Amino acid sequence: MPRAHRPHIWASTPLHVKDVISSFTRIRSPTIVATPTAFPAERGHAKKLRSSMPHTHHGACQCGTVRFEISGAFDCFFLCHCARCRKDTGSAHAANLFSTTATITWASGQDNITTYKVPNTRHEKSFCRTCGSAVPGLQMDGALLVVPAGSLDSAIDIRPNAHICCADRAGWDSNLQDVPSMDGLPG
Ligand SMILES: [Zn+2]
Ligand SMILES: [Zn+2]
Repeated sequence: MPRAHRPHIWASTPLHVKDVISSFTRIRSPTIVATPTAFPAERGHAKKLRSSMPHTHHGACQCGTVRFEISGAFDCFFLCHCARCRKDTGSAHAANLFSTTATITWASGQDNITTYKVPNTRHEKSFCRTCGSAVPGLQMDGALLVVPAGSLDSAIDIRPNAHICCADRAGWDSNLQDVPSMDGLPG
């Protein structure tokens, strides 16, 4: 039986996410792709980004055991270069969508998800136990839905809001736009 969970409390959003969003609204650099109208001020200390229209999205892990559907809008989309996100993904950065209002319904495989929380931190990652794919997770007692963008099979109408934790990026992660691009595999 699919089970829906609706996070609803922005006030309990993890402090670091609030900090990131709050600091994002102060950032003025060419890396920001959202327009100023995409993040109206809500309260003095926390500004909520709402650049995605309500929509239904679906996704799955690599092996197809975990399947889910998300209804609602994403608040923000960050590319995080911190060391924990690099470990999580084995890549240069994580690409996570955040929502405090969207609803997730598990079509299958919810019991095949493991969530690992780094001790003494707020950092956690949910993944399929069979294939290791990153899958959505509810954090902060269900108040915040975190969705790895790569887990979605449907298109999204929100662009990344910012690269974050760039001071922590890998040594090789710079000027990547200068690296040759190929449509397929090399050779
Ligand atoms: Zn899987
Ligand atoms: Zn991170």
